[in-house]
Amino acid sequence: MEQLNKYIENTFGIDSKVINFINKQLKELEPQFAEIDARAEYNQYKVLSAMQKNHISDTHFGATNGYGYNDLGRDALEQVYADVFNAESALVRPQLISGTHALTIALSGNLRPGDEILSPAGAPYDTLQGVIGITEQRGSLKEYGITYRQVDFKDDYSFDYEGIRNAINEKTKLVTIQRSKGYDFRPALTIAELKELISFIKSIKPDVICMVDNCYGEFVETLEPTDVGADLAVGSLIKNPGGGLAPIGGYIVGKEEYVENAAVRLTAPGQGKEVGATLGLNSVFFQGLFLSPTVVAASLKGALLTAKVFESLGYETMPRSTDTRADIVQAVKMLSADKVIAFCKGIQKAAPIDSYVTPEPNPDMPGYDSPVIMAAGAFVQGSSIELSADAPIKPPYTVYFQGGLTWYHGKLGVMVALQEMYKKGLVELEEEGEANA
Ligand SMILES: *Cc1c(COP(=O)(O)O)cnc(C)c1O
Repeated sequence: MEQLNKYIENTFGIDSKVINFINKQLKELEPQFAEIDARAEYNQYKVLSAMQKNHISDTHFGATNGYGYNDLGRDALEQVYADVFNAESALVRPQLISGTHALTIALSGNLRPGDEILSPAGAPYDTLQGVIGITEQRGSLKEYGITYRQVDFKDDYSFDYEGIRNAINEKTKLVTIQRSKGYDFRPALTIAELKELISFIKSIKPDVICMVDNCYGEFVETLEPTDVGADLAVGSLIKNPGGGLAPIGGYIVGKEEYVENAAVRLTAPGQGKEVGATLGLNSVFFQGLFLSPTVVAASLKGALLTAKVFESLGYETMPRSTDTRADIVQAVKMLSADKVIAFCKGIQKAAPIDSYVTPEPNPDMPGYDSPVIMAAGAFVQGSSIELSADAPIKPPYTVYFQGGLTWYHGKLGVMVALQEMYKKGLVELEEEGEANA
């Protein structure tokens, strides 16, 4: 649409060459966009039917305070999550303050001294390393006598089944599997791969608890880990399932017994799910879950466009634009610090909040061995279902792009990021783009 392109050019100062280049890439993504929309539609109906089945009404939007006994909205929300995830039970709480916290509660509630954790798909997410005690940390599970084993992927990122078989022993109590690539340049695990891995593990030790770190994975496919054998799935409400509206929170879904073990660790033995006031947050948790499938679809479109644009320019991407997507994170190997910084500055510039500030690499990030640049202009601090990009400033200068509450914002983010790179002479675009878009 000519009027739209002119408006973008004039309002955001984007060169027509950049706009034409992006529009050309977009044309080729139409079939994949249609598939993303079809999955979103399926997931929308899944959420909708769970809300209908549980007779959600405005009585569920009331606020409780204090102990939070008889919080009807909280209990109904947990039943809706359980239904959406095809699980026996759910714990969905503002008192789960992050994904890391929800995972910590799920682990510490279900493990006892002498038990062992197995990670059969490489190292877990950075923050979990301290929780488990892979890196020394005060209060880690290691301090409570819980041990840890890890089996890395093979070179082609397939599972090392022989290694996994050998690692499972009489102490192995819980297997933790990270679905998303997180901040690794590896493929995220598809539901089909999770299913295969979990059934292999259960064939060796049927009573082991299989927990999936589901962060960034919710609603990317039409099934969730708990549909294919996971005993627990855990995630953050300021990522996919909060739909951008949840201002805080985490969830743990799965087998009744394991969710209950987590609940008594979150609150107190003897109290479990019965306490925990929601302080008026129930309605945004419901509404965020309701919007989540389309928000995830928006994020996936932005990720796909990023992959396509940078592949066309000759960069290595993970996943590639033609790969099956299993999370909302898009990684691009930029191979230069200048490019990473320009890209992140563009994402920041395109934000609704803090668009006027310039992100710079922070040399003193706790837990990181190199400076890190983070671009985010979010309504909720740290919310990475909102459009954001981060990169450690070290070779091969990989940038991780994720989120976008609306597809149009994601698209503009990619445009402004490319514009920042183009303006500095860091990318070359072909002389004549297709000026007809
Ligand atoms: C974000 C994330 C976490 C941790 O969640 P926080 O809310 O940042 O604490 C854990 N695992 C994965 C794969 C993640 O993406």
